[in-house]
Amino acid sequence: MTSGQVAVSRAQLAWLTELGIDRKLLASIADTTSLFTVPPAPAIAPAARAGLKPGAALAPTRGSAPASDQAAAPARVSPTSRPIPPDAQPAQVIPVVRQPLPDNLTALAESVAQCQACGLHAVRHQTVFGDGVAQAPDWMVIGEVPGDHDDHLGLPFQGKAGELLNHMLVAAGILPSATLFYTNLLKCRPKGARAPKPEEIEACLPFLRQQIALVRPAGLLVLGWQAAQALLGQRASLDRLRGQVHRYHDAGLDIPLVVTHHPASLMLRGHFKAAAWQDLHLARQALLSLP
Ligand code: SF4
Repeated sequence: MTSGQVAVSRAQLAWLTELGIDRKLLASIADTTSLFTVPPAPAIAPAARAGLKPGAALAPTRGSAPASDQAAAPARVSPTSRPIPPDAQPAQVIPVVRQPLPDNLTALAESVAQCQACGLHAVRHQTVFGDGVAQAPDWMVIGEVPGDHDDHLGLPFQGKAGELLNHMLVAAGILPSATLFYTNLLKCRPKGARAPKPEEIEACLPFLRQQIALVRPAGLLVLGWQAAQALLGQRASLDRLRGQVHRYHDAGLDIPLVVTHHPASLMLRGHFKAAAWQDLHLARQALLSLP
């Protein structure tokens, strides 16, 4: 590869082409060349996956489509029944409710599985605790509520939204090298694909905070305005929360936090994809700048 040339994988190229970003533009962006020097990768799977017990596999590899299909996925994604949060909708500031929660992930997952703290326990097929590298991953990726596939499989980010998320992470140069743990703000799926209610968020937020404290990721990538508002305690629209590096402070932790659009939202609002790419680029830079 000569100077000025940019190497991209098929997955990256599909995503970037959809954004209207061509190779000439890539080469003109400072520091972007280094983003795209990863070899063409078998796309999606995180480099390593661990279970609740260190080193143990939690679950099957994210996304059911083979790598060849994933490379073309941005062109074939379609709307799902996943709830789409209105980005600019004003939201209630959620107080943090402290509970005596387990101090290890296995016990915490069991607490979640038994939880009846809000009405969603009555409509879930199973709880969706989390999936991925559970010990100090590079990123904890936090969505809002489990999707329909997630609810049946007990795993986060399954289905088309999960596939799109993986394309985004690959295109931004975060995957395949980074280690990730995936979870959601709520551990049970609301019936009818509706957005979570404030009281449901309040009931479930302590589980997420305890997950963060136990997993201890280097960075938090938050997808969607409700999860972002809950974790940051800020009453602001997604437009105001994204595009910057926040700090998450809790349990003695100080973790960079980047907010962007949820992939399910992007499936319906394609014009936000360029902004999402910028956010992921920002997230990658934030982690690279850590000492
Ligand atoms: Fe419990 Fe959270 Fe499920 Fe509500 S959504 S029942 S608080 S685990």
